[in-house]
Amino acid sequence: MDFGFDARTAELHEALHDFLTDRILPAEPVYAEQVAAAAAPGAAHPTATDPGAAGPTSAGPWRRPPIVEELKAEARRRGLWNLFLPDPEYGAGLSNLQYAPLAELTGRSPHLAPEALNCAAPDTGNIELLVEYGSPAQRERWLRPLLDGELRSAFCMTEPEVASSDATNIATRIERDGDEYVVTGRKWWSTGAMDPRCAFFVVLGRTDPAAPRHRQHGMVLVPRDTPGVTVRRGLTVFGYSDGAHGGHAEVDFDGVRVPADHLIGGPGDGFAIAQARLGPGRIHHCMRLIGMAERALELLCRRAAGRVAFGRPLAEQGVVQEWIAESRVRIEQARLLVLKTAWLMDTVGNKGAHTEIQAIKIVTPAMAEWVIDKAIQAHGGAGVSQDTPLAEFWTHARTLRLADGPDEVHRAGLARRELRRWTGD
Ligand SMILES: Cc1cc2nc3c(=O)[nH]c(=O)nc-3n(C[C@H](O)[C@H](O)[C@H](O)COP(=O)(O)OP(=O)(O)OC[C@H]3O[C@@H](n4cnc5c(N)ncnc54)[C@H](O)[C@@H]3O)c2cc1C
Repeated sequence: MDFGFDARTAELHEALHDFLTDRILPAEPVYAEQVAAAAAPGAAHPTATDPGAAGPTSAGPWRRPPIVEELKAEARRRGLWNLFLPDPEYGAGLSNLQYAPLAELTGRSPHLAPEALNCAAPDTGNIELLVEYGSPAQRERWLRPLLDGELRSAFCMTEPEVASSDATNIATRIERDGDEYVVTGRKWWSTGAMDPRCAFFVVLGRTDPAAPRHRQHGMVLVPRDTPGVTVRRGLTVFGYSDGAHGGHAEVDFDGVRVPADHLIGGPGDGFAIAQARLGPGRIHHCMRLIGMAERALELLCRRAAGRVAFGRPLAEQGVVQEWIAESRVRIEQARLLVLKTAWLMDTVGNKGAHTEIQAIKIVTPAMAEWVIDKAIQAHGGAGVSQDTPLAEFWTHARTLRLADGPDEVHRAGLARRELRRWTGD
């Protein structure tokens, strides 16, 4: 077993580390200023309606500030682009194991680095989906500009009216009518949909209610400017607009007509495609969470060493040392499991790594939440303010105990498979 990087990973890791240190981290305060300026009352925003799409999509908090495009251009120049995509025809051609330490680095600056490298969700999942299941015409129209970072996209599965952690409940209708499909339903938590650059939605809905349970759904591409699409509102996350992730929207599809060739795969393939899409997405989140936890631990240590209370630095308090040691242990444990999972995905495939993908999705957000919480505590009031990244880190880690499947659903699935090993049922 070799725990070192291979030559290519080492080279990219060094290049990315330099980019992070020279450009991304210094850009964080610039980014914060630009976001604040865009959100300020009276700031010049484009009109409240984007072409063809009603709704508040151009409001300040969701418009990405100019620094992001500057960083994207620089990342591309440095060869740090589409690193997440294993397919060498379209992406960097790295294995999951090679990408893991790189994604971890981007997690240190989760609001800037993933997008700067064109490695941000939900586009990464939609890119993988189009590479794997898209028709040549769909790839030409949607995949190419996504790969070039020219537009963004959203994935619309979750619905307010049904328990969407069970994807077979999804009730939006996708009905064939001549040469078209008609989409009717309401989605929410469509990440990225508040970003004015979000040009299309990947929508999961029922194509055949009479089919067997896992064959009832299809997946269709819906351009944002199609009549009948309404972005109703942005959803906040613990009060944050979460603009860094493109915002999360509630979206209505009211008799939306798209050409039949906008269907991805066949009419009953949606459920299987949605499941396939989620595997890599889950591990990418976990890789970045480890970087986020590492940065939180670094901030914790710096703060504890420099802050004096009751006559001595916090770092000399046993309880703080306990937090530091425990954080290091928890991060290392989670990282090892994520790397093993990456290796399994590379060697036996995403299906073969299902148990481990569920395990890391349970372990890593909780680990990051715990470490970030301790870093917040060591910072006192500053920890919950906008003066450190910790408050936003914490909200992000917390949401990942829900997004891409709640903890309980992963635990139930994992337990079922473990039981099956011993009972054969
Ligand atoms: C920040 C964020 C971003 C998101 N991005 C997207 C996106 O881009 N696209 C998208 O389609 N969705 C997205 N989601 C939605 C997310 O995937 C869903 O919220 C999640 O799948 C849960 O579905 P639900 O909200 O309908 O909860 P429900 O299905 O109603 O579940 C509620 C709770 O019930 C419990 N529960 C459910 N099943 C079980 C079980 N078997 N055993 C025990 N307890 C159980 C769990 O505690 C669960 O949290 C996002 C969510 C968040 C918070």
